[in-house]
Amino acid sequence: MVERLGPPLDEPIFDELAIIGVGLIGSSVARAVRRRKAARRIVLVDRSEETLARADALALGDETTSDAARAVENADCVILCVPVGANEEVAGAIAPALRRGAIVSDVGSVKGAVISALEPILPSHARFVPAHPVAGTEQSGPDAGFASLFINRWCILTPPDGADPEAVRNVRALWEAFGSNVEIMSAAHHDLVLAITSHVPHLIAYNIVGTAADLEEVTRSEVIKFSAGGFRDFTRIAASDPTMWRDVFLHNKDAVLEMLGRFNEDLMALQRMIRREDGDGLFDLFTRTRAIRLGIVAQGQETAAPDFGRRTADADEPAS
Ligand code: NAP
Repeated sequence: MVERLGPPLDEPIFDELAIIGVGLIGSSVARAVRRRKAARRIVLVDRSEETLARADALALGDETTSDAARAVENADCVILCVPVGANEEVAGAIAPALRRGAIVSDVGSVKGAVISALEPILPSHARFVPAHPVAGTEQSGPDAGFASLFINRWCILTPPDGADPEAVRNVRALWEAFGSNVEIMSAAHHDLVLAITSHVPHLIAYNIVGTAADLEEVTRSEVIKFSAGGFRDFTRIAASDPTMWRDVFLHNKDAVLEMLGRFNEDLMALQRMIRREDGDGLFDLFTRTRAIRLGIVAQGQETAAPDFGRRTADADEPAS
């Protein structure tokens, strides 16, 4: 298992990489690229001058600009790191300026809707390789990123039919340089898997925190005071970026509704077990679910530590 980012690559994968959206993921990509010298030059794009000023102060790239079209003119690879719903607008802005054969990738948490939106917009000479790093925190913005975010995490590529093999190889090499394991699957399958492993859990967290906030019999200060009883762990997830998650649910609607249907059925079954005082049923289920957690820890996707320590020792490295 990889513990730290390796030394600079012998040869960069890309000459010029444009990263559009310098938030948690975009700034982490920039930091990891710099650390591994995976591109000769990094151009950073954001619509917010404040974000660009932070990117300059943190020395995340070689150039910062709010002009996405100008930023991609010389890029052999462009990675869109904006909320899922903003990809279409950004792709429209860069499409006429893309260099012949440029690789275009993204990091969106939903794949089917992004592919449907971008394929008609991107020029046919562009080589589109959608990607989703299954890694993140509940924080956002350029200060939240860190180079080791992707180490030992999965990155899922969902190349559409006919995707250029060399472009897929290069995008895979980039994520492997970040310490990620790469898996390739269809966009539809990705969206179904992520609906149950990520999207529905976020919805449950948003819901339970919202329910607690609206309770009348229990005061808000009691909810906060006694939060270590399980609620606290939900609040971390429910603190995730509202724009990002609004877009995820609007763009992965079918898969989320499918998984929510199954979740509701299982919740009903649990409700029945409690009403009927079916202790054996509850015990059996809780034993099975505990085994899933142990499997996740065993595969290095979580530590056994109870504090959700997302930042590793490698996280506080200098940005450049
Ligand atoms: P973030 O920290 O909020 O960063 C998003 C960045 O995109 C912000 O700098 C934002 O600028 C910028 N942006 C938004 N709309 C834009 C537009 N129309 N044009 C140019 N820039 C724009 O979000 P993030 O967590 O990095 O998420 C980015 C993407 O990564 C999303 O697609 C998300 O699904 C995916 N992802 C997230 C995670 C996670 O855990 N967070 C994990 C895997 C994948 P402003 O500051 O002006 O809003």
